[in-house]
Amino acid sequence: MDFALSTRTERLRRQLADFIAERVDPAEPVYRAQVAASGDPHFHPPVMEELKAEARARGLWNLFLPESEYGAGLSNLEYAPLCELMGQSELAPEATNCMPPDTGNMEVLAKFATPLQVERFLQPLLSGETRSCFAMTEPWVASSDATNIQSRIVRDGDHYVINAHKWWTSGAASPMCTFAILMGISDPDADRHRRHSMVLVPFDTPGVSVVRTLPVFGHDAGGGHCETLFEDVRIPKEFLLGEEGGGFAIAQARLGPGRIHHCMRAIGMAEKALRLMCERTQQRVAFGKPLADQGTIQAQIAESRIEIEQARLLTMKAAWLMDTVGAKGARIEIGAIKVVAARLATTVIDRAIQTFGGAGVSDDWPLAAMYTHARTLHLVDGPDEVHLQQIARRELRGYDSFRTVEA
Ligand SMILES: Cc1cc2nc3c(=O)[nH]c(=O)nc-3n(C[C@H](O)[C@H](O)[C@H](O)COP(=O)(O)OP(=O)(O)OC[C@H]3O[C@@H](n4cnc5c(N)ncnc54)[C@H](O)[C@@H]3O)c2cc1C
Repeated sequence: MDFALSTRTERLRRQLADFIAERVDPAEPVYRAQVAASGDPHFHPPVMEELKAEARARGLWNLFLPESEYGAGLSNLEYAPLCELMGQSELAPEATNCMPPDTGNMEVLAKFATPLQVERFLQPLLSGETRSCFAMTEPWVASSDATNIQSRIVRDGDHYVINAHKWWTSGAASPMCTFAILMGISDPDADRHRRHSMVLVPFDTPGVSVVRTLPVFGHDAGGGHCETLFEDVRIPKEFLLGEEGGGFAIAQARLGPGRIHHCMRAIGMAEKALRLMCERTQQRVAFGKPLADQGTIQAQIAESRIEIEQARLLTMKAAWLMDTVGAKGARIEIGAIKVVAARLATTVIDRAIQTFGGAGVSDDWPLAAMYTHARTLHLVDGPDEVHLQQIARRELRGYDSFRTVEA
């Protein structure tokens, strides 16, 4: 395995770092002021459009799409350090059009969309004119098992009729959000992995509504995380994504790259938290010496550095495997890094909060918001336990002969 950065990645990394320092970081207070002035936490502030125009002009656009006619054509390994940098910034992912859930949706569309779907749904996302959401999770079933999804997609002549109650539909409250990729049952009698399909549902279709946004630890911002209803929604049959019964397979395909991107950004968050911890503890003096001179704090700094390096190497390995054997072959490593990166981010940010004292949990510093986001990483795209289960199952393969009791 060779994890050295390519010349192109080195150049892009420098350019991205400059863009974030020169334009994105200074825009954060402007972004917040524009949202506050609108009175709507989901307002799309004009400063974001300015950042997007600048990112495009600098060639820092759609960097996430690997080897594709639509994107920058970077491998996962090449994208990893760029995505990590974006994770250190609140606004950089959206400014560069590398923001979930659009990234996962664009990947799926790039892979499965028909020419009509490319023109209607993918192109406006690629150009940053619109945003989208992914509607899989449902309030009434354990959605960490995708085969539990109950929503119905029923064929009616040249249309499909959708009845679905979803929640945690991220991004649906954004005024830029124009459609959902929705998963539901199209054939209840089929095998449980062939029962579901995915469809593209324009948000201006009658019957689509956002019931409410779900605050996370009291925070409700950006595109929100929404409870959504789809009541007798009729869409043309041409809006079926992939084939009927292919929903589970598309869900699996969507999660591979999406998960690893979460991990890369989580490592970026941990780096930022460690940097803030080091700066702060050099400056604050307690009991006659800088906090940085306390042995316990030094141990926390050292543990954080070690854990970041470990997580980064495992992420690079997962990215390298995705590039060489594909997401399916890298499934276990992707699951492993998803667990490790979520743990890393929550642990390091938590240490940083502690070293900041009361300031750490205030809104004067980004740590509290970062912790809130990092905590959700233990749940989104499959909870930790499901990944652990997959890893354990593979580990146990080959030990069946040791069993003394039949299951
Ligand atoms: C901030 C946020 C954003 C999200 N965005 C989206 C989105 O855009 N679109 C979307 O469709 N969904 C989204 N989700 C939903 C997310 O993917 C689900 O919450 C997650 O898959 C778990 O499903 P569930 O909530 O139904 O939990 P359940 O399936 O009810 O599971 C509950 C708990 O049971 C435990 N558990 C489950 N399986 C096992 C197992 N095999 N072994 C041991 N324990 C287990 C885990 O601790 C798990 O957390 C989002 C969630 C959050 C918090």
